[in-house]
Amino acid sequence: MELPEDCAGVLLDLDDTLIDFSEASPAALAHVLGPDADFAEWMELTEELYPRFTAGAIGYRELERRRLAALLTRMGRPVPDVPELDAVEAHRRREVESRLRLYPDVLPFLARVRASGRRIGVLSNSDGPQQRRRTEQLGLAPWLDAVTVSGDTGIAKPRREAFALACRRLGVPAARTVHIGDSLEADALGAHGAGLGAVWLHRPHRGPTPPPPARGVAVVTTLDALV
Ligand SMILES: [Mg+2]
Repeated sequence: MELPEDCAGVLLDLDDTLIDFSEASPAALAHVLGPDADFAEWMELTEELYPRFTAGAIGYRELERRRLAALLTRMGRPVPDVPELDAVEAHRRREVESRLRLYPDVLPFLARVRASGRRIGVLSNSDGPQQRRRTEQLGLAPWLDAVTVSGDTGIAKPRREAFALACRRLGVPAARTVHIGDSLEADALGAHGAGLGAVWLHRPHRGPTPPPPARGVAVVTTLDALV
């Protein structure tokens, strides 16, 4: 599909949209906690805790501590004190970051968007310093006109205000911005509800391509589909 002619800016989610965690996360968890650490349980715990983080009830560090403590408990291991939990989590994060990569369709897409004269921004629900570090480390930073992260702003997707703020920073009105992301609720429906163009990126490893979840929300399986 083509981006609308009047589209002057593209907003992108970062995790699982531009950055591929599929190998990095499980490998880092096993490296730090051993082969009996169950990555599916880790993801389950992340999904359980994330709504509390996006609602502002807990900070990102607290999410990380609770997730690690819960996994250790499930593994039948003792839960250490907070400084030790933070040290283990910092180790895991370093191991993840050393393994991260971009999906292969990302840089060609950014080059096409830039060549078309449109502005490019990131809108991420996560920790600010971590996400900015990742954009630098993976070579995304030079392509980005604005990086907006909920950990800095206190306003997370799918809230309308999160999209409004990201558009202001991008310098493009919401109605002329297209947002692309992998989360149905946070990205696709959130952007649509906030008056942006919405593209749900449903990469093939997630299973069969779903139908559009709402009128006006496009579904693609690769950024190569967007020109
Ligand atoms: Mg994502």
